[in-house]
Amino acid sequence: MAEYILSPAAEKTCRNCPLRDNPHVRNQVTTEVHPGPGGINGGIDLMFIAEAPGKVENKVGRPVIGGTGKILRRLVHRLNEGKETGIAYGNIVRCRPANETDPHKDRPPTNPELIACRSNIMRDIARLKPKQIVLLGKSAATGLALDAATGERVDPSKSIYAL
Ligand code: SF4
Repeated sequence: MAEYILSPAAEKTCRNCPLRDNPHVRNQVTTEVHPGPGGINGGIDLMFIAEAPGKVENKVGRPVIGGTGKILRRLVHRLNEGKETGIAYGNIVRCRPANETDPHKDRPPTNPELIACRSNIMRDIARLKPKQIVLLGKSAATGLALDAATGERVDPSKSIYAL
């Protein structure tokens, strides 16, 4: 569980919305994968999708490592100790939505930002083929349900849980 893979630099150049141009955005935080025995192409068991990078994630460039993320990772690690479980952590929005009036604070992503970034997480889902997806919070749930053009959902045969 200690080893992980981040997306290649070429996948960190998205300009689909203005968030990337915010001077407080340091990293485009892509999905982090802890592959199972089949490697990254063998599909993974469990994928967690959170809202967006916060201050810590933006600085370090890894998803779901802030306060709550740290607790979640510890719990997941403990529950899967000794098992060969492939796990991924990602965000529904990859660039930190900093509060415009106080950049030290975060704000939830807007619907246009959720829609703009949706193709990134959908690409990860298609590539990683997770057996189960856990959506962490309202933005993640809204972001995956939202497709302004088609109203399309993630593969409805997949097990999706929202926390
Ligand atoms: S938030 Fe998403 S859509 Fe917007 S620039 Fe960043 S990666 Fe691209």
